[in-house]
Amino acid sequence: MTQELLSTQQSPVCRVCEVELHVEINWFPSLAAKGNRICKSCVRQQYKEWVRAHPDRMEVYRLARRGKYAYEKIARLEVIRLLGGKCSWPGCSCSDSRILQIDHVKGHGLLEIRKYGTHYYQHVLQSILHGQKNKYQLLCPNHNWLKRFENNEQPHQIIEAEQLPT
Ligand SMILES: [Zn+2]
Ligand SMILES: [Zn+2]
Repeated sequence: MTQELLSTQQSPVCRVCEVELHVEINWFPSLAAKGNRICKSCVRQQYKEWVRAHPDRMEVYRLARRGKYAYEKIARLEVIRLLGGKCSWPGCSCSDSRILQIDHVKGHGLLEIRKYGTHYYQHVLQSILHGQKNKYQLLCPNHNWLKRFENNEQPHQIIEAEQLPT
């Protein structure tokens, strides 16, 4: 048993093609450090298959390559574009992307903001790309506040209620 363990530690093999793994040569050091036994060519193969299966996700990653910190900003602008680019309040024509806010049609928006944090807009973008466009709408700040008062949405209380220990 000990002997067996020792020998697998000495020569790890790719879990897909079972080739012997050697760091730098055919095993990415980052994967080796995590103990993820997969060779470079199998990683590339899986990546290609993943890209083929997720064209919409790739679009987001393509945008993200422009810069790590631009990621959320780009996602936000993309969300605004996909949602029509203007306040959806009847008669309002505000289309200033700097101030438009993404509103959850049925409320509870702050729960998602808290859940996804710095990935919030990326999450919204993914939802929209996966057909959940109707969940969201754009509102200018004035109409966002008006809607909250009219619908009696009290997001802070909702969050506090959900976080209470049961
Ligand atoms: Zn392999
Ligand atoms: Zn408005």
